[in-house]
Amino acid sequence: MPVPVVALVGRPNVGKSTIFNRIINERLSIVEDTPGVTRDRIYSSASWLGREFRLIDTGGIDMSDEPMTVQIKNQAEIAIDEADVIVFIVNGQTGVTKQDEDVAKILYKTNKPVVLAINKADNPEQRQDIYDFYSLGFGEPNPISGSQGTGIGDLLDEIVKSFPTDNEREEDDTIKFSFIGRPNVGKSSLVNAILGDDRVIVSDMQGTTRDAIDTKYHDDLLDEDFTIIDTAGIRKRGKVYENTEKYSVLRALSAIDKSDVVCVVLNAEEGIREQDKKVAGYAHNAGKGVIILVNKWDTLKKDTHTMKDFEDEIRREFQYLSYSPIIFTSAVKNQRLDKIPELVVRVNENRERRIPSAILNDLLLRATSIAPAPVVKGKRLRIYYMTQVAVGPPTFVVFVNDSELLHFSYERFLINQLRETFDFEGTPIKILPRTRK
Ligand code: GDP
Ligand code: GDP
Repeated sequence: MPVPVVALVGRPNVGKSTIFNRIINERLSIVEDTPGVTRDRIYSSASWLGREFRLIDTGGIDMSDEPMTVQIKNQAEIAIDEADVIVFIVNGQTGVTKQDEDVAKILYKTNKPVVLAINKADNPEQRQDIYDFYSLGFGEPNPISGSQGTGIGDLLDEIVKSFPTDNEREEDDTIKFSFIGRPNVGKSSLVNAILGDDRVIVSDMQGTTRDAIDTKYHDDLLDEDFTIIDTAGIRKRGKVYENTEKYSVLRALSAIDKSDVVCVVLNAEEGIREQDKKVAGYAHNAGKGVIILVNKWDTLKKDTHTMKDFEDEIRREFQYLSYSPIIFTSAVKNQRLDKIPELVVRVNENRERRIPSAILNDLLLRATSIAPAPVVKGKRLRIYYMTQVAVGPPTFVVFVNDSELLHFSYERFLINQLRETFDFEGTPIKILPRTRK
């Protein structure tokens, strides 16, 4: 079940960035009086009362070469496209402005829930002045102060209440995968080639829903249903904001969140770049299956070492992805494209793999006899029992005498033992130590 997405919208300077930081509880974005200042982060996970969600600060999607009216319009449209719940923020100290009305007009077009927040209501008298804002037509205004933190809890209650219920969310059991990578690496060519011949597109969903451009199809050869999760730049919709860097990163992260398996696409001609490592790291941390795809393989002059050298470099640069299969493809020369859906299926199976506790504990016995648990500060780590508590990714709880004693290196040793014994290719594995007296 994908976590709900919440977007903050509103004209510049109403306090979106301040509220974003409040909600994610970190001070990462730069809050400044100058509108248009670039913000570090516009997308983050957050939670309230145990409910997880993703938060987008649409104000951080910089389109400063566009006129202000266009920027405000685009940001509101991004919120409509991307979010399950929209938080419309206005400034309680200025009353309703023309720009607020412009945002409202765009938000009228959506049938997604809109929660109205009146910011800068720093003191009680100001909280009386919120009635003006009923005129915007979004029901009860919620007075808050982003800078002081008042009213944020009530606002979050309101937001959480508006989350879609499980029934409203379309759930399906297709395998969801995505191609993530910098512009021009060949993502759309890969999608088009895969959707090409004998694969029937079940539905090419259009409209205003969040999944508007994801493509569901049936693969006859494998007899599997897939959904290709779209990222900006795959299906070019001709919207102005699609070319902005922040928006494409935002789309990439949100596509990763919705995927079971992520194909990180590198460009053979250009090698590995910093941005490739960032998105791959995000996919790994999010517990997604990861396949590394080196596309445009046809463009290289090759000798017997080329592939091996490239592979070595990938292993050096993406050390945390030592479990990921690597394939060398050409979207235009149709090289190894059939391997992609096959690998996606395999990695997805591995990510869903369950190992019975009895077998795990045999492995544990064997592992601890090969490499006895270490002594840390005079105290020996004792491992009592291991059990798998989740799939997607496979997650193991290890009961020990003191979880402080389970160091990273021994944890990695256990993970390697798991990988040697079972097929977990392509999937991250999580180990959760628990102290048991
Ligand atoms: P954004 O452009 O909508 O993201 O607005 P910012 O978060 O950058 O805030 C714009 C200005 O309003 C900054 O100077 C903030 O310090 C200030 N501000 C934000 N929230 C509040 C608030 O609750 N009360 C007051 N008085 N100022 C605030
Ligand atoms: P995207 O921005 O990642 O979606 O990249 P595109 O699929 O639009 O491809 C960018 C350019 O690279 C286009 O001109 C493609 O024809 C070309 N291209 C894509 N894949 C390959 C490939 O495997 N080999 C070669 N030589 N060109 C490719």
